Amino acid sequence: MATKKKVSAEKQTFTCASCGVLNCYRRAGVFPSFCLTTGTPDALKTRAKRAYLGNGRDAKMARAAAEVEGTYYGRLTRVEEIIAFANRIGAKKIGIATCIGLIEETRVFVKVLKANDLKPYAVLCKVGSVDKTEIGIPDSLKVQKGSYEAICNPVLQAELLNQWKSDLNVIVGLCVGHDSLFIRHSDAPVTTLITKDRVTGHNPAAALYTSGFYYKRLLESGRNL
Ligand code: SF4
Repeated sequence: MATKKKVSAEKQTFTCASCGVLNCYRRAGVFPSFCLTTGTPDALKTRAKRAYLGNGRDAKMARAAAEVEGTYYGRLTRVEEIIAFANRIGAKKIGIATCIGLIEETRVFVKVLKANDLKPYAVLCKVGSVDKTEIGIPDSLKVQKGSYEAICNPVLQAELLNQWKSDLNVIVGLCVGHDSLFIRHSDAPVTTLITKDRVTGHNPAAALYTSGFYYKRLLESGRNL
């Protein structure tokens, strides 16, 4: 009974995901009653807006991102957009936090960055070579049981790039959670070139696109993942 009550209470929580008008974008219609634009106190909205004004780092990044979007909308690949963004924020030293499974893609990306007069520095996820059991991960959770298997080490990836004083860091295929740790420990702003999805060829949206049929299981509750 308690669970049922909790579920129905949660159903009453409306967010932007429930919104059918998305009126904050063009203001061509009306805001819904539960709107997160009209429902947010002015002081909070003003504080956020202030971050984009002036010449601070956030403001420069916001303007650079908008300039890349507005100039090249739908015409540049993400690889190229990262270069365009780096140029606009004055980033020369580009750190790359790469997954071992995507090292070949990283090697190509390094060539692309060099061809565009940027300075890349790549650090592999397995850097430091610490066996999983050393941090309390049981052998049974290794991909290849009984073998030496290094942890992904996003904290060290970030520290090495921090020491190198990268201007912008790019994630190439870090795992879910390892990417969170990397972002938490990175001094430089972080963007993502490749979002790892081992099943869909690194296209996580594919599972959502096909959730009406092939990936129906995504919508099943109680899967205990
Ligand atoms: S901010 Fe308001 S209008 Fe915009 S998507 Fe959210 S609920 Fe809809």
